Amino acid sequence: MRRSKAFIPTTKEAPSDASLPSHQFLVRGGFINQQGAGLYNYMPLGKIVLEKIRSIVKEELDSSGCIEVQLSFVTPMALWERSGRADAMGKEMLRIQDRHQNPFVLSPTNEEAMVELVKNRVNSYKDLPLNLYQINTKFRDEARPRYGLLRGREFLMKDGYSFHASKEDMVREFDLMEQTYKNIFTRLGLDFRVVLADSGAIGGSGSKEFHVLADSGEDTIIVCDRCDYGANIETIDSINEDDFNEFTYEELQTKNIEEKCSCGGTLSFKKGIEVGHIFQLGTRYSKELEANFNDENGKPKPFEMATFGIGVSRLIASVIEQNHDEHGCIWTKSTAPYMVNVMVSNIKDEEQSSLGEELYSKLLDAKVETIIDDRKERFGFKMKDAELIGFPYTVIIGKELVNGLVQIYDRKTKEKLSVSKDEVFEKIMELI
Ligand code: ATP
Ligand code: MG
Repeated sequence: MRRSKAFIPTTKEAPSDASLPSHQFLVRGGFINQQGAGLYNYMPLGKIVLEKIRSIVKEELDSSGCIEVQLSFVTPMALWERSGRADAMGKEMLRIQDRHQNPFVLSPTNEEAMVELVKNRVNSYKDLPLNLYQINTKFRDEARPRYGLLRGREFLMKDGYSFHASKEDMVREFDLMEQTYKNIFTRLGLDFRVVLADSGAIGGSGSKEFHVLADSGEDTIIVCDRCDYGANIETIDSINEDDFNEFTYEELQTKNIEEKCSCGGTLSFKKGIEVGHIFQLGTRYSKELEANFNDENGKPKPFEMATFGIGVSRLIASVIEQNHDEHGCIWTKSTAPYMVNVMVSNIKDEEQSSLGEELYSKLLDAKVETIIDDRKERFGFKMKDAELIGFPYTVIIGKELVNGLVQIYDRKTKEKLSVSKDEVFEKIMELI
């Protein structure tokens, strides 16, 4: 991409309501812009990042045997009445009417619609298990849409639903999805923890959340420094009553924990952004919606189900909450809109310009996602822009070129490496 031809409207000013770094930098960096409360447009850079995250999610799910579908975003209200959730969803569910006054909703989640899809199409235990997912728009009329992409009203979610002949098989899939989610968040370059979550009536470890560790997280979680143990403090009574129930919720957030984890490790409180949630549903929806399969004896039984969600658009903001400094975004390698920014300091300088063009085409040939900053702007201005957007590497082709040298600037470490112009391509290939 040529920066001179791109549509990347960066700005100095953040919106007045943007209190978090991800919200400020994603708007200022020209990734997204707000259309209304909790409604966002993705501009080209935002769209690239979104698609990168989407394809990592898809690749990992597909390789774990999940199958992608896409359900209609608008669902008939009748479905929600049948499952008994129409009232329970309350005002978060946006209700609309068509021209004949038929009631519909903008899908906030899709358990009902997915059960309807499978019902009467999967009839035998031989066709199970089945894990269907979609990466699709959701609408929740959140009481307080805020923090940019972290809590939108319209947002992109990956929602998956699995169908099983037995509880054991459902639990097996639940464990497989836990591992799959870990693979996804690891590939995205995130520091995250899996925690026990409130699972209502189901109990046990039937519900787990995936939290990206960040000061701005809305949830408080407890994690062990030695083992995998983690819990959302919402669950504290159920997981370790004796140790924790003397504290109120408020006290817990400010307290250090003297109790040790059962492994002997030290427990501490952290703030987390919930980016994923996996949940053992059992037969709650299949019973209500009469979705059955025939077991080995030909006897009809309701499907055992589990459900799996990932906040795909929330992940964009989570990457930045965890990776930024006062100048802007610091994308991880797998999420960066472009890996390399080739910056020609003075485009009127023939030598600088032709080296820039040469490196740009070499990197493109090598399939490296590259942008060339070929704008007629001052060096300082272009550098500020590169810092704000957060490309992992910027090759600075500037004054040092008279001595045969260029610099590779590492956005994360802020180090500038001087390399000979003849070696810069090889050096970049090594770094990325
Ligand atoms: P929260 O407690 O943050 O409201 P939730 O428990 O309502 O989340 P789920 O119903 O489990 O969320 O949805 C699955 C995933 O969708 C969540 O883990 C989260 O990453 C994402 N998500 C939920 N609500 C929003 C929102 N308003 N904006 C962006 N992402 C969201
Ligand atoms: Mg919610």
